[in-house]
Amino acid sequence: MVKGTTAMGKKRKIVHIRCRRCGRHSYNIKTKVCAACGYGKSSKMRKYKWQTHSLQRKRIK
Ligand SMILES: [Zn+2]
Repeated sequence: MVKGTTAMGKKRKIVHIRCRRCGRHSYNIKTKVCAACGYGKSSKMRKYKWQTHSLQRKRIK
């Protein structure tokens, strides 16, 4: 046995990269859809009134 949770060692692959539209780290490479703003799925922004964080990108480095 090793120290810590062994199954967490499998969680070492990149799923999301930074989104081109919203700037969040939510763009799925495999499905090519942003989980935060829906980029790649629709031309409109994925937006809900219950969401607390705004999806406007502030700055891109
Ligand atoms: Zn996005």
